[in-house]
Amino acid sequence: MRTVRWETEWVEDMPDVMERGKVYISIKHRLTEHLCACGCKAEVSLPLGRSDWRIEYDGETVSLRPSVGNWRLPCGSHYIIRESRTQWCRAWSPEEVMAGRIRDRQEKEWDIKRKLKERVWWKRILQRILAAVKDKWMRLTGKP
Ligand SMILES: [Zn+2]
Repeated sequence: MRTVRWETEWVEDMPDVMERGKVYISIKHRLTEHLCACGCKAEVSLPLGRSDWRIEYDGETVSLRPSVGNWRLPCGSHYIIRESRTQWCRAWSPEEVMAGRIRDRQEKEWDIKRKLKERVWWKRILQRILAAVKDKWMRLTGKP
């Protein structure tokens, strides 16, 4: 049986046995899990993050972005959970799955690059401070 309406379950750790029709969210593990909406009972585990999945919770209903594409499952389900309802999407062709994966990877790479840039920026500031301190030290003591 297909899941029509989802319940939200906030957990610390994921339960050993999941109930159908529940979206489990763990902030601690930055993870969300549920049983596939098609009713095949497969466990779907999605990481939460800027370049992964995002949760929207309005106090009552839950939305997941982007869509859930269970390409690795036999059922190949593709759906969106929006305001606790399942919206079915067209199943992707193998080419589209591949394109989606490449896009995913690119987004991840951009994210890593952006983080690295931030790190370089901080390093530069730190080096500047260190150089200034060293300069002062040399002027005070005459020693390098
Ligand atoms: Zn399924």
